[in-house]
Amino acid sequence: MTERQPITIDTGEDRYSRLRMIPWWDQELLSRSKVMVVGAGALGNEIIKNLALLGVGNVLIVDFDRVELANLSRSVLYSESDEGVSKVHAAVAAARRLNPDCRVAGLDADVTREVGLGLFRWADVVICGLDSREARLAVNQNCWKVGRAWVDGATESFQGVARVFTPPDGPCYECTLGERDIQLLEARNSCGFIAREAYRQGRTPTTPTTSAIVAGIQVQEALKILHKDAHLSGLSGKGFFIDGITLDSFIIEYVRREDCLSHESIGRIIDTDLSSRTASLLDVRAVAERYLEGEIVIELPSEMVTNLTCGVCHSAEPFYRLLPSISADDALCPHCGVERVPEVETQSRGDEPYARMSLESLGFPVMDVITARSTSGEVGIEIGGDWQTLTGGAW
Ligand SMILES: [Zn+2]
Ligand SMILES: [Zn+2]
Repeated sequence: MTERQPITIDTGEDRYSRLRMIPWWDQELLSRSKVMVVGAGALGNEIIKNLALLGVGNVLIVDFDRVELANLSRSVLYSESDEGVSKVHAAVAAARRLNPDCRVAGLDADVTREVGLGLFRWADVVICGLDSREARLAVNQNCWKVGRAWVDGATESFQGVARVFTPPDGPCYECTLGERDIQLLEARNSCGFIAREAYRQGRTPTTPTTSAIVAGIQVQEALKILHKDAHLSGLSGKGFFIDGITLDSFIIEYVRREDCLSHESIGRIIDTDLSSRTASLLDVRAVAERYLEGEIVIELPSEMVTNLTCGVCHSAEPFYRLLPSISADDALCPHCGVERVPEVETQSRGDEPYARMSLESLGFPVMDVITARSTSGEVGIEIGGDWQTLTGGAW
């Protein structure tokens, strides 16, 4: 009896072979792609799951929340043992399990004040699963500053919307807001530290089915943006609305408002390996001096508090931190317990006491791009050393 030789047939099948059958699909492009996901809630879970299944090679997840039991009905990436763990931590671990080909990093941070422009610049596209208008506005402005498209998604019970904003020419998120929305935002921003903190905890009714539909559209749009050479039609400057009860869906085309204040962009950005743990505004200034002539002014990313004064006991304390990074506790007078009034500056000339302090201790966002200006022009200086800290040097 002759022994049979085992027959092996090379079918060319691998994890991605069914995806490669799509004519315009470029799996290698996806494996090189960089996507930032902002928000790891119901939408974020579905977005991250899709990116991992699709083999998107580099994913950065941003969120500041912890996993609660109430999240589990809509969060494929979390389990009961994750209760109390940071969403970012649990989502990174789950995405790596889903597809070990993907490099996944997480940043436990609030996108309105802790995520620097350099991270938006790192990404090829930004996808959001956010529940606040304030956070969307922050993402929108940052994406415009560094010229990155972003995909928004929102759900409420059985209704959902996905939309795409593409700088520099299209309408932006702020262009879609009415006068009343902007007044509400301004009122919220002016109502002090404590109210702002309370606002950050929004809650809306959502289902995993609606999240899956909207996140599916969002990631599909991101795929089209990444495959830009395929010239696929997409949602750029438009919103796709779906009502899961009636199954009605429609597309709205947004109009760019030329008087919109969110269309600013940074022209030239200088890469550096400065790290916000060690670098100060004086170090940033030293880099700027190589590119600019004349007296240099550094534009602060938000107002810098230099002093807190109590309106009741009139005690004053020098205090150096960017305004959005001050907590409600910091703001309270240690003697009377009332909220103190801050004194603020918007520019640094290099001679202030805080110019020598580390960017991190001043509350600068991670991997920010800091703008320096003189009569000869303007440059953005990226605090690129933070990437090493964020990824543990593994990327
Ligand atoms: Zn706009
Ligand atoms: Zn006081």
